[in-house]
Amino acid sequence: MHSLTLTEEQLQKMLAHVDSHAPLEACGLLAGHDSKVESVLVVTNQAQSPVRYVMDPIEQLQAFEWIDAKGLDLLGIFHSHPTGPETVSQTDIEQAAYAVVYVILTPVDGSWRARGFWIEDGKYNEVALHFQ
Ligand SMILES: [Zn+2]
Repeated sequence: MHSLTLTEEQLQKMLAHVDSHAPLEACGLLAGHDSKVESVLVVTNQAQSPVRYVMDPIEQLQAFEWIDAKGLDLLGIFHSHPTGPETVSQTDIEQAAYAVVYVILTPVDGSWRARGFWIEDGKYNEVALHFQ
């Protein structure tokens, strides 16, 4: 997958979630069809840490079941890096378990920036995020 398309409203939902948890990392899932996001699902960061995230397993399972029930696909996983970097971390690469776009949200000059990455074979490439 080489891009993800999100609405401005979906972006704002992600930003509001991560902003309200900063300086702790916050996370969630993006579901939809093809490369078009239809739902943003927020998930509790069980790690309650400023430098890592672990999705609450019950909430993650419930989110996966909801995505299945709606006939959607998991397209992305988002989380924040309140103190950077703007790109995926070594931990993110090591823990990347799904073939989805990893969206990283980082504060840059006082506002949050979203960037997307594809992680495979221990490496990552940036993918385009389109906002409409
Ligand atoms: Zn990370």
